[in-house]
Amino acid sequence: MTDTGSAPKPAKKGSAGRTRGRATGAPAITRRTLSEQTYEALKERILDQRLLPGTRLNIDALARDLSVSSSPIREALVRLDAEKLVISELYSGYSVAPHPTLQYLHDLLDHRIVIEGHCARVGAAKRSRVVINAMRQLSERMAAMPRIGTKYREYRRFVEADGRFHQLLVDSAENEVMSTTYSSLNAIILQSRLYLNRRGGSAPSDAVVHEHSRIFEAFAAGDGAEAEAAIRDHLEGGRIRLLSTLSEDGEPIETPT
Ligand SMILES: [Zn+2]
Repeated sequence: MTDTGSAPKPAKKGSAGRTRGRATGAPAITRRTLSEQTYEALKERILDQRLLPGTRLNIDALARDLSVSSSPIREALVRLDAEKLVISELYSGYSVAPHPTLQYLHDLLDHRIVIEGHCARVGAAKRSRVVINAMRQLSERMAAMPRIGTKYREYRRFVEADGRFHQLLVDSAENEVMSTTYSSLNAIILQSRLYLNRRGGSAPSDAVVHEHSRIFEAFAAGDGAEAEAAIRDHLEGGRIRLLSTLSEDGEPIETPT
């Protein structure tokens, strides 16, 4: 996921977050950290459905609730708007975005199979040492993680590593247009995980780790056709996991707005 790229590095330990609410005079790093924390707090509430789809988001109330000024709330809402987790309307302000429909989730998977399949075939054949090493590291890190939980806080690290793995796969084809359009989908892909993580019992991390290692091995062997088949099977596996979660859940999918 793209969060990683924008995450601030703690420059001075202990200084971050002490000057909450001061609009001026605070060091840039502190403002960035506060903004990041506010964004993460709001995102967590949306993904864990403590703020339900359609809920109107009042900036002053959120600022009171999170004990921050309105600036970091506004910054967070702009980011969440870009990620399609909230929607903004001209006169009524922000509200929590509706869940994607089942049709939309199918369309998203169809799109990913085309793009990621193409990029895996082209990228694996390049046999880039950098890509292969990075893919190995991400695979090993995910295999070592505990099972996915049902809360954003619990599954975030696994989901972020998964997002980086897939972005790396797309980037390996060295097609700038595909890399850019794919990265803009990150938040929507993350949102689709809501369905996979709504029920604790069906945490699919073992299957995901196994499927990733097949993709990695195809890259390591420079086998483009096998890499394409492996990513296709992984994404189709995701479709089956998604459908089984939905039928277990039995909840109606919201209609598009
Ligand atoms: Zn994956």
